Amino acid sequence: MVDSERSRTPVKLQRFTYTSDGSKVIINDMTKISSPQPTEYSFQFQEVGSNDEEKRILVREIIDKFNEGDLMSIRGKIVGVAEPTVTKSRGLKVANALFADEMGKIELDLWEGHISAVEVGRVYTISPVQVRQWLGKKKVSTVVSSIISAEEMSECLSAIPLVMEEEIREGSASSTLTIRSFLCVEKVESYLQCRKCSRKILQAMGTLVVRCDRCGYSMRTVDCPVRRYASVVMEVPDGNPVHITMFSDVLEELVPDCKNLSDGEVEEMLFLMENVTITYDSDTCIVLKAVAAK
Ligand SMILES: [Zn+2]
Repeated sequence: MVDSERSRTPVKLQRFTYTSDGSKVIINDMTKISSPQPTEYSFQFQEVGSNDEEKRILVREIIDKFNEGDLMSIRGKIVGVAEPTVTKSRGLKVANALFADEMGKIELDLWEGHISAVEVGRVYTISPVQVRQWLGKKKVSTVVSSIISAEEMSECLSAIPLVMEEEIREGSASSTLTIRSFLCVEKVESYLQCRKCSRKILQAMGTLVVRCDRCGYSMRTVDCPVRRYASVVMEVPDGNPVHITMFSDVLEELVPDCKNLSDGEVEEMLFLMENVTITYDSDTCIVLKAVAAK
């Protein structure tokens, strides 16, 4: 049987019994093991075990130690779900929810069929969910393979109050406005991004090896992605000018051929732009999207 697992070929068992709960097969010296005919089975080899069930993780642990892309299983209460929206890029339905367990709360994105699979105020195990990071804040999201199963309410979870839709959105409040032109550009700068912690490397770019002051890792300079940011001031109607920051992803959408331009040329391009529609996070003033009128 070990050989056939290694070679991924099926085996046929005859004369065996089950344990009383039906979860295990018992084979003994009466059992006959042989190779089945191809007509006798219609399944594919499948690995079971390690990836079969993601470990249940507490919300607190996700926030403290897990990174974007990690998969795990969570159990807790849905304390609120906002009205679903449809993504512009792929036309998929997504609803922001707030999820709480005994140790904390986290934002949860429910996709497509998962939206109708939950009811506010009830307890579920969701397995797996994937960690996402948005403007430095961690959240979790369902994936295509996520399974949502209803669980018993516990005393501790029943004490967690439900929230209104506005409170779910509060965490990611953004403003959108169209400006005639930028008031001034404070700085456009390219920098090396740390491969370990994704933050800006403070050291100069000229050396072969750089060391990240934030996480302490050293790496080859050529391996570090070069990113850019622009610090810009814009006027808002009936308010003080707002200092906003645009990073590479936004700049590349806004400035044509941005990758091949110098920092000075990007700065010039920003000044030439007119009627720019900007969506930015109201807390961090980081621009989420910027589009210039053609
Ligand atoms: Zn680092």
